[in-house]
Amino acid sequence: MTHLPIAGRREVRLATVGLIRGDRRAMAAVLALYCSATLAGLAGPWLVGRIIDQVQHGADVSTVDVLAGAAVVAVIAQILLTRAARYAGYRFGERALALLRERFMDRALDLPIATVERAGTGDLMTRASVDVAALGTSARDAAPEIFISVVQVVFILGAVVVIDPVLGLCSLVATPALWMVARWYLRRAREAYLAEGAATTRLSEELAATAEGARTIEVLRMRPARVGSGDRSIGTAFAARVRTLALRSVLFPVAEAAHAFPVAVALVVGAVLMSHGRLSLGSLVAAALYLTRLGGPVDWILQWMETLQSGAASLARLEGIGRIPTTVPQQRAEPDGDRIDVSGVTYAYHEGHDVLHDVSLSVRPGERLAIVGPSGAGKSTLGRLLAGIDTPGRGSVTVGGVPVGQLPPDELRRRIALVTQEHHVFLGTLRDNLALAAAEAGDERMGQALAAVGADWAADLPDGLDTMLGAGGMTLDASRAQQLALARLVLADPHTLILDEATSMLDPTAARDTERSLAAVLEGRTVIAIAHRLHTAHDADRVAVMEHGRVTELGAHDELVAASGTYASLWRSWHGG
Ligand code: ADP
Repeated sequence: MTHLPIAGRREVRLATVGLIRGDRRAMAAVLALYCSATLAGLAGPWLVGRIIDQVQHGADVSTVDVLAGAAVVAVIAQILLTRAARYAGYRFGERALALLRERFMDRALDLPIATVERAGTGDLMTRASVDVAALGTSARDAAPEIFISVVQVVFILGAVVVIDPVLGLCSLVATPALWMVARWYLRRAREAYLAEGAATTRLSEELAATAEGARTIEVLRMRPARVGSGDRSIGTAFAARVRTLALRSVLFPVAEAAHAFPVAVALVVGAVLMSHGRLSLGSLVAAALYLTRLGGPVDWILQWMETLQSGAASLARLEGIGRIPTTVPQQRAEPDGDRIDVSGVTYAYHEGHDVLHDVSLSVRPGERLAIVGPSGAGKSTLGRLLAGIDTPGRGSVTVGGVPVGQLPPDELRRRIALVTQEHHVFLGTLRDNLALAAAEAGDERMGQALAAVGADWAADLPDGLDTMLGAGGMTLDASRAQQLALARLVLADPHTLILDEATSMLDPTAARDTERSLAAVLEGRTVIAIAHRLHTAHDADRVAVMEHGRVTELGAHDELVAASGTYASLWRSWHGG
């Protein structure tokens, strides 16, 4: 299984910068609001310092009142500005997230089907759910919180430097230690927390499985084995938790000390400066108050850094999808007619193991071709090449002279449809479900398409085309869901249909009316049927017999029977004589 690619650091950086650039005004507004809020917050300690100095110099009560009043105003301004800033920041985050989601969705839908199949849909699903959620937390919480905190740290340090540059230096005494511990922690944290999560999940699965299968376990005397494996899971989970605890037990004390240490150093140094008359008591108090405030934002940064890191990892996975070349062709070529030509096609799922060898075949518009042969002969593989899901290694598959792989997806879908078992009913109205195939179709065409496939029930719906289908709405039984899928085919109106009976809705036990619905859809189209039942072959214009990845016989049913080859013997044995 090949995995979907993951974007590199540079691409992630570019994507982030792109997001900020794309919403530059909003970003500027957020920055301005946070800076103003932080400035308003700085007023408090400074005013307290002024009050101390004024009182020291015997100022009267009214001066103190004015300063205290100013402090109150500053606090109120800070609250209001912070609120506005957060609101703007969150909006920015949500918009960025929405943009990323849409981009991911567009890219995912543009992916070549073969790529998705190779990688398994699980990877894509995880990216669409888990990674988008992780990125959401980053964009919504981590990024704004870190942003606010960084602004605060910068401003607070700036304020201390303004009061006295020497005190400013003091505030940095613990920074190297904090920096080193934070790096040490962040390097290990992600893996350790992931391991803790995985161990916890495994433990609960293990316990749930044991509890559910309790009777079986008793009967088969598997108790000691289950208890043993439960103990091992508990051991693993315990070890994983001890590990994260060990990480925290280093980070938090160091962080605490790193907050207290600069305050202590600043007070000692400040006292010396004061004794030399370089610093007033009020200024020292203001500086100390600022430094005590540094702890909050620094803690926030440490706390959210890890989330931001995992958000970056998720962004790398989401952006990685963009690395996959889509099926969009370099030059647009207009097919001339709908004749399908397969010439000299070789195909291998795995290098060196060709499952198709030099297959050549032409299908006239309107022809019905049945492909028969033993299981594993390569019939479905040929069907996938014809539908443009895979591209041949050597040789070509063309429609109207243009290689199917070079047709843009929507153009290809208009010409060739692979009919599969999936007759999914999408959540939405009946109209929404039909519009997927032909967005421009009006009510009348939709009604006709439904009538053509014998979906008479649709005409009797109380809300008509506006009836809600799927969870919460009307549920369609299997045969109605099939009819809906067939009506979509009628609307999409492809010239060529490829039916893989093994996986198609053509179930031999299907109700007669479904068969009739299908017949209505096949009417007037080129049909290539990968036949597992020989009566399909009997009704076809021509039959191609495939064996070991080659077309060994090709001709009308009667001719092939007369030729007494493989087909003739298949037919005889199937026909019971
Ligand atoms: P048929 O439809 O005639 O039964 P297929 O086209 O499904 O034959 O298979 C042709 C050969 O290709 C078989 O040997 C099969 O094992 C192999 N094959 C089919 N699908 C895959 C796949 N996804 N990956 C690898 N090998 C495959």
